[in-house]
Amino acid sequence: MYQRLARAWAFCVLVLACCAVAQARDLPQIVIVATGGTIAGAGASAVNSASYQAAKVPVDKLLASVPEISTIARVRGEQAFQIASESFTNEHLLTLARKVAELAARGDVDGIVVTHGTDTLEETAFFLNLTVHTAKPIVVVGSMRPGTALSADGALNLYDAVAVAGEPTARAKGVLVVMDDCIWSGRDVAKTINIRTDAFQSPWGPLGMIVEGKSYWFRAPVKRHTTESEFDIARIVTLPRVDIGYGSGNANGDAFKAFAAAGAKAVVNAGTGNGSVSADVVPVLQQLTSQGVTVVRSSRVVGGGFVIRNAEQPDDKYGWVAAHDLNPQKARILTMLGLTVTSDPVQLQRMFWEY
Ligand code: ASP
Repeated sequence: MYQRLARAWAFCVLVLACCAVAQARDLPQIVIVATGGTIAGAGASAVNSASYQAAKVPVDKLLASVPEISTIARVRGEQAFQIASESFTNEHLLTLARKVAELAARGDVDGIVVTHGTDTLEETAFFLNLTVHTAKPIVVVGSMRPGTALSADGALNLYDAVAVAGEPTARAKGVLVVMDDCIWSGRDVAKTINIRTDAFQSPWGPLGMIVEGKSYWFRAPVKRHTTESEFDIARIVTLPRVDIGYGSGNANGDAFKAFAAAGAKAVVNAGTGNGSVSADVVPVLQQLTSQGVTVVRSSRVVGGGFVIRNAEQPDDKYGWVAAHDLNPQKARILTMLGLTVTSDPVQLQRMFWEY
């Protein structure tokens, strides 16, 4: 009798173990590529939500702090860098994109989450969106408060990002950004507030929401991205120098001259309004164009700058490029990539319409 009970008990344990293994096997396999930022930050006390050190917590500790993730995905972490995102260089962009592309090509990876500082997150997301050829979900995520702060937002943002990266419905939508319950297109999302948890916005709205691990989609990007992009990280060895000059009252062209003298192949004018250029700056930019430096007119207007070609300045006549709705920092990314292919302003303008 005792032996029969023991055998039945052992059988039950075996069945339960098999179920658990089978269930785990069904979970999507997600790799977290960590780069630093506030999501890996630590403050001196729980009330330090704005003064703290970014890029302190390693990826394994970050993952261990959100054990709920193991119920929605099989995750493993890779520490790419441990930096604050304001210190991202073009080399960091290239290294990260190569790593993400390599992971995306693997059969045992269903999705990738990149943890990132929020300051330049929108630039990296756009860069990956343009250079990594995959339909697999790539989700970039950060947080506005370090994990040590009261009401820290990183744990839920990370959980949400993993949930979205494991979603078949997130495939082929380009690189996504998940922050504060929202799913954004990496193309046009931008940090517009530097202190609140709802820091990210796009003039075109979010693509969807992520609530309790479930994605709700409302739109999809129509611009070229990932598998449809003519840029491919596999073919990009180096990026040209592109600098941004800021428009304001009393603006002059000294910064643009200095950028060109230092080797910039293009300059982006973060212009006022509709990418307007001050009368003192126009001749400087014309001179740079004649020297072979590409000039891109963007707008410094936050959250909805929209530059129209040949409005404010005669772009056709000057051989300039209008950045359309891309903010100056995103215009820098596309200009760098465009210049890896061509310096023809007509072709570059086409890229600004298409991406
Ligand atoms: N300075 C930080 C960074 O971008 C800010 C943040 O992550 O929110 O790394």
